[in-house]
Amino acid sequence: MSQTSNIKTNPNACPLAKKCGGCQLQNMTYDRQLKWKQARCEILLKKFGKVEKIIGMENPYNYRNKVQAAFGRTKSGKIISGVYQSGSHRIVSVDNCMTEDIIADKIIVDIREMLPKFKIWTYDEDKGTGFLRHVLVKRGFTSGEVMVVLVGASGYFPMKKKFTAALLEKHPEITTVVLNINPKDTNLVLGDREEVLYGNGYIEDTLCGCVFRISPKSFYQINPVQTEKLYGKAMELAELNENTGVLDAYCGIGTIGLVAAKTAGRVIGVELNPDAVKDAISNCKRNGMDNARFYCADAGDFMQELAENGERFDVVFMDPPRSGSSKKFIESLVASAPKKVVYISCNPETLARDLNLLTHKGYKVKKICPVDMFPHTNHIECAVLLVRHNGGCSL
Ligand code: SAH
Repeated sequence: MSQTSNIKTNPNACPLAKKCGGCQLQNMTYDRQLKWKQARCEILLKKFGKVEKIIGMENPYNYRNKVQAAFGRTKSGKIISGVYQSGSHRIVSVDNCMTEDIIADKIIVDIREMLPKFKIWTYDEDKGTGFLRHVLVKRGFTSGEVMVVLVGASGYFPMKKKFTAALLEKHPEITTVVLNINPKDTNLVLGDREEVLYGNGYIEDTLCGCVFRISPKSFYQINPVQTEKLYGKAMELAELNENTGVLDAYCGIGTIGLVAAKTAGRVIGVELNPDAVKDAISNCKRNGMDNARFYCADAGDFMQELAENGERFDVVFMDPPRSGSSKKFIESLVASAPKKVVYISCNPETLARDLNLLTHKGYKVKKICPVDMFPHTNHIECAVLLVRHNGGCSL
């Protein structure tokens, strides 16, 4: 996406921006970024109703609670860690990033500096030799718990005990260390096998009053400060009470559904990824909720079955991926006719496409609330409230 030339530039602009490509708006001041996002929402969404003022972040820096670094060597043999140059597999060396958690960045730099002493070789993608491919650090924003995942090309790691002990001595805040084994020639960071080197192999964090277990692979929102605002807005729009029946579609690890279950009568969640559903079920138990159930299925198939069985919900939350929802889901949603739909979107373009369908099939857009979940990038998140017309739908 292009930026205008007469922008006020950001005094904290990143020197690696061009090579990395992750923060498309970083050369604008934060205030300007918010105006850019607001204007983008208005262009795409104002035909459906008024776009509320975007909810920005008070301190829009170092918000990412999950940091991932690729490890390798330069031609001269120097060990480097950082991100892949956009569109390539060349590593751009990054020691600190304006969006990443400061402690996580420090841990990654210290691991890099410790490697020679422990004779740990970085993995060479072309030759398929060496060991360390990536380091992933996740930090619980509320709990302060820290997980370090070392991604190795094999399970052969002779110095693992000594290395882990030295790392813990340098960073006593680390609560768990996991070795993930990824021998495959793949773009995926994590492999299937894991060995816990220290602690219990996961961290926990609290979001909107619920505790969530975060394992190396589980999806968790990367900006917890803004996620609380987004979910808070979604709950405000839904106006739940103890009689409300809720469907959480595209529920991931159950975050929205479990926050809703604190107030609502009953919650059903549906999600395609089986690992995420397992996490949702264990999060449900962890929080002592007995009014929520989670199912693994395609949201469209599931919604169609519910509609055919005459299952009714008062509120449907839907939080699909960037590609938006499916026609099947929307048509079955309309057939099951919930009073309210709260659509949480990470892509205003597919949101506009789906709102077009919903507004032609009996729903009216009541509120459009953008929230800035990813400062400095061009990503835009919105929570939208739709309410069913009194006369029902015009299928
Ligand atoms: N609501 C969650 C996750 C949103 S991300 C949260 O706030 O954390 C979107 C989710 O939709 C992902 O977990 C993805 O696995 C899931 N998904 C993608 N396609 C799907 C489909 N066809 N049916 C059900 N879930 C799907």
